[in-house]
Amino acid sequence: MNRRKFVSSGIAAAVAAALANQRLYAALLAASDTVEAEVNAISGEGAEVILQRAAVQELADSLRGNLLLPGHAAYEEARRILNPSIDKHPALIVQPKGVADVKNAVDFARDSNLLVAVKCGGHSPSGKSTCDGGMMIDLSLLRSVRVDPDRRIAQVSGGSLLGDMDHDTMAFGLVTTAGTVSHTGVGGLTLGGGFGRLARRFGLALDNVRGVELITADGRFVRASPDENPDLYWGVRGGGGNFGIATSFEFQLHPMDRQVIGGDIMFPISEAPQLLRFYAEYAAGAPDELYLDGGLVSIPGQFSGVWFHVCYSGDKALADKFIDPIRKAGTPVVDTVGPVDYTAIQKSADVSDPRARGSWMKSGFASEISEGMIDAIIDGWEEHPERGMFVVWQHAGGAIGRVPDDATAFAHRHVRHDTLFLMDWAMGVDPAPHVKWLRDYFATVEPYTYGFYTNDVMDESQAKVNRNYLGHYDRLVELKNKYDPTNLFRLNANIVPTAGSA
Ligand SMILES: Cc1cc2nc3c(=O)[nH]c(=O)nc-3n(C[C@H](O)[C@H](O)[C@H](O)COP(=O)(O)OP(=O)(O)OC[C@H]3O[C@@H](n4cnc5c(N)ncnc54)[C@H](O)[C@@H]3O)c2cc1C
Repeated sequence: MNRRKFVSSGIAAAVAAALANQRLYAALLAASDTVEAEVNAISGEGAEVILQRAAVQELADSLRGNLLLPGHAAYEEARRILNPSIDKHPALIVQPKGVADVKNAVDFARDSNLLVAVKCGGHSPSGKSTCDGGMMIDLSLLRSVRVDPDRRIAQVSGGSLLGDMDHDTMAFGLVTTAGTVSHTGVGGLTLGGGFGRLARRFGLALDNVRGVELITADGRFVRASPDENPDLYWGVRGGGGNFGIATSFEFQLHPMDRQVIGGDIMFPISEAPQLLRFYAEYAAGAPDELYLDGGLVSIPGQFSGVWFHVCYSGDKALADKFIDPIRKAGTPVVDTVGPVDYTAIQKSADVSDPRARGSWMKSGFASEISEGMIDAIIDGWEEHPERGMFVVWQHAGGAIGRVPDDATAFAHRHVRHDTLFLMDWAMGVDPAPHVKWLRDYFATVEPYTYGFYTNDVMDESQAKVNRNYLGHYDRLVELKNKYDPTNLFRLNANIVPTAGSA
C-alpha cells in the first residue's frame, strides 16, 4: 500500500468509526429518552402513585432538558446533594433547560399528585432538595448570569450557584450579597435569607432582590416585584421555596473594589473564655464593612481552637485600625489575614470533596451574645476524634437590621449573630451518638437564642417552624393559600396552606 492509499484508508476507517460511534451515541441518547415501563412514585402525602409509561414518555418528550429515571447514567449524579448522609432516590428527576421545562415538570407533578423536591445548589443541610419516590426538579442546567453594569443589576437564573454570580458581577466591579461558600445555590440561599461577607453593608441577599420570576404550583409564569404581584414579592423574600420555583432573580448590584482584606486567625483553645468575650463585644461594635465570624472549631488531627474569620471591605487605610485588635485579642497560632480578591475569599471555605463527610447542624439567631451563652458553649464543648465540630457565630447585624420588619417576609431583623452548631464525620462512622450529643449540647445554648434560620431547618416540629415566622406567619399562610393551596412545594420550612397537609 502506498503512503497516499494508507492515509486515505486511515481516514476512511476513522470516518467510518466516527459515523458508527455517532450512530451508537444517537441510539444511546434515544434509548435514554425512551421510557420502558410504568414508574412507581409517591404523592406529597406518601400514598403510592403509579405513573403510566405513556404519560412519563409524554413528559420526557415535552422537555428540552432531561428526564432521568433510576438506571440512567446521569441519574446517580443528579440525585445527590451536598450532604452525603442523606441518600435518597427520587422516582424521576427532571433537569429543565428552560422555563418551559420547569412549567412542564410542575404541571406533570401537580396533575399526577407527586411529591416534589426542588434542587438548586443542593446545600439544604436536612436534604429538603431531594426525596424518596417523588419528582426531583434539578435546576443545575438553569445557570446563567447577565449583568447590566449601567443599571447595576444582574439577572440570575434560578439554578445558578453563588460563585457564578460573584464571578460575573465582580468582573464589572459590582457585587451583591452572597453566602460564604461559592457552590451554594442562589435559589435556596436567596429565598430564605442570604447572610454573607457583605450582608452587613448591603443587607441580606433577599434585600437586594428587585424582582423574581416564578412558575407557581398551577403552572403559571408569574413575576413578583414592587409593581407586579407585590404580595408575592414580599413573600418570596423570606418565605423560601413555598410559593413556586424561582426561574430568575433580578439583583441590585453595588460598586466595590475587588480587593478586600481577609483571612483566618486561629488561637489556642485555652484562650477560648477571653476570646469569646472579646468577640461578643467587638463584633457588636464593628463597622458595617467588617465581617467577623468567630467561635470554636475542632478538626480531628488538624486543629482545635478558637477561629476568627475576617473580611474587611472598607477603606484600606482603616483596615489595620479594625483588624489589629482582633490579632491582639489573644496569641494567634495562625494568621492568614491580608489582601485577597473578593471572589477568592468567597471560595475559601468551599468543600473540596463534598461526598466525603456527612453532616448535621442546628442554628439559632441572637441579637446579643450573653455571658450565659458563652458559658454554655464553653461548658459543653467536647472534642472527639470521630467528628469535626464548629460552634460559630456568623456575623449579621448592620444593614440587615435597618430594613423595616414588614418590608419582607424574613422575620428576624433583630439578628446580629447566627449561632451555628455544625458537625461532620467521615462516611462509615455511626453518626447517631454524635448527633445526640450535638442535640443535647445545642439545647443548653438554645435558650440564649431567638428563632432560627429557615434555610437551616432540620427536623423541627411544624409548630416550631410556624412560630419561627413570628408575626409574618398569618400573612404567609394567606399567600400559600393563594399560590400553592395543595402544598405542592412542601419540602422546605413549610408554610402549610389552610386546606393542605404537611
Ligand atoms: C456549606 C454551607 C454553607 C452555607 N453558608 C451559608 C451562608 O454563608 N449564608 C447563608 O445565608 N446560608 C448559608 N448556608 C445555608 C444555605 O442558605 C441553605 O442551605 C440554602 O437553602 C442553600 O440553597 P441551595 O439552593 O444550595 O440548596 P437546595 O438544597 O438546592 O435548596 C434548599 C431549599 O430551597 C429550595 N429552592 C432552591 N432553589 C429554588 C428555586 N430556584 N426556586 C424555589 N425553591 C428553591 C429547595 O426546594 C429547598 O427547599 C450554607 C449551607 C451550607 C451547607
